[in-house]
Amino acid sequence: MNTIEKFDNNVMHTYGRFNVAFEKGSQRNAVDEDGKQYIDFGSGIGTNSLGFCDEDWVEAVCSQAKAIQHTSNYYYTKVQADFAENLCNATGYSKVFFGNSGAEANECAIKLARKYSFDKYGKGRHNIVTLVNSFHGRTLCTLSATGQDSFHNYFFPFVEGFVNAKANDIEDLKSKLDNVCAVMVEFVQGEGGVIALEKDYVTALAEICAEKDILLIADEVQTGVGRTGKFLASEHFGIKPDITTLAKGIAGGVPMGACLANEKCSEVLSKGTHGSTFGGNPLACAGGNVVVNKVNNKDFLDEVIKKSEYIKEKLSAIDEVCEISGLGLMIGITLKTKNALDVVSKALDEGLMLLTAKEKVRLLPPLNITYDELDKGLEILINILNS
Ligand SMILES: *Cc1c(COP(=O)(O)O)cnc(C)c1O
Repeated sequence: MNTIEKFDNNVMHTYGRFNVAFEKGSQRNAVDEDGKQYIDFGSGIGTNSLGFCDEDWVEAVCSQAKAIQHTSNYYYTKVQADFAENLCNATGYSKVFFGNSGAEANECAIKLARKYSFDKYGKGRHNIVTLVNSFHGRTLCTLSATGQDSFHNYFFPFVEGFVNAKANDIEDLKSKLDNVCAVMVEFVQGEGGVIALEKDYVTALAEICAEKDILLIADEVQTGVGRTGKFLASEHFGIKPDITTLAKGIAGGVPMGACLANEKCSEVLSKGTHGSTFGGNPLACAGGNVVVNKVNNKDFLDEVIKKSEYIKEKLSAIDEVCEISGLGLMIGITLKTKNALDVVSKALDEGLMLLTAKEKVRLLPPLNITYDELDKGLEILINILNS
C-alpha cells in the first residue's frame, strides 16, 4: 500500500489534502516521494520560519535530543530557562507560560484574563470581546472565541462569555464592554483573509482597554516572531498589549506555544492554576532558541520587509491581481477572475507550495527565503495567473 492509501485508511479525514507525500526538504525546497521538487511559499502555515532543516536548527534540536529530551515541569531545564529569557528579552514581556500550540497559548491567555478579573473584581466580569472574522483555534474554548459563524456548528454547547465586535469599528466595541475582562485581537487576521487592522482603531482600542482595566490580548500566533517584519506585529501599531500569544513559527517547525504577560498580570496564574505536560519541552525550546536568535535582529527583520515589497511589486504588475493585502511576509492576493484554490492546486503541480485564506491566495514564505528562490516561485505563480 502506498503512503496516501495507508494514510487515508488510518488517519481521520479532517483535512482537505493535496495528493502529495513529502519525504524531505532543505532550505526552501521540499521533495516528494517521487523525487519531485517544490519551492515553499507556505512554511507549513507559517511554521518553518527558517525553511526546511536549517543547519543550526537541526544541530540544536539533535544535540538536545541526545542530552535530555523531556523532564516534567516539576523540574527545571537550562534550555527552557534560556528560551524564556530570550523571548522576554526579545519582546519586553516579563513572564511566559509554555504550551504546545496556538490554541493552547490562547487558552492560557483566556484563563489568565478571567482570573485577573476574578482576583481583582470578583465574579461576573468574565466576558471576552473578540472580532468578527477572527480565528483563535480549534479547541472548544478557542472555537467559541473565534468570530466566524461557520466554526460554530456541531459541537454545542460552546464556551460562554465571548462577544464579537466588528473590526475597525470603535463604537461597536464600546457598546460591548459590559462585564468584560479582556479584548483579544489579531493585528492581521490570517485565516480570516490576511486583513490588517487600522492603526487608529488599534490606538483607540488600547486606550479604552487601559482606561477600563480590560486586558488587551494580542493573538500573534501567526503574525509573531518576525512574520510581519517586526519581531511582534504590535510594534507596527506602536502599542504594547498586556498579553501576547505566539506559536506557529516560534520554534521553526517543532510544536511550541507561548503566552507572554506584562508586569500587570504576569503573576496571576499561580501555582496549580495552569499547566501542560509537554509545555516548554527541551527539543522545542532548543529549536525556539535558534529561531529567536536569528529572527530578533534588525537586518534580518528589514530583509523580511524588503522581500515583502519585492513580492508585492512583482505581483501588482499582473493583470489578474486585483488587490494585495497583509504585512511583511504575510500576503493575501485577491484575484479578478481565477479561483484561489485552483491556482494553488495548479501551482503545486508546477512545483510551488501556496496557501489560500478565504477567497484569496495566501503567501507565508519562510522568513529567510532567498531572492533566487522567490524569483523561481513567483515565475510559476505569475505564469499561472497570466494563463
Ligand atoms: C493558527 C492559529 C491559531 C491556532 O494555532 P494551533 O497551533 O493550530 O492551535 C490561533 N490563532 C491564530 C491567529 C492562528 O493563525
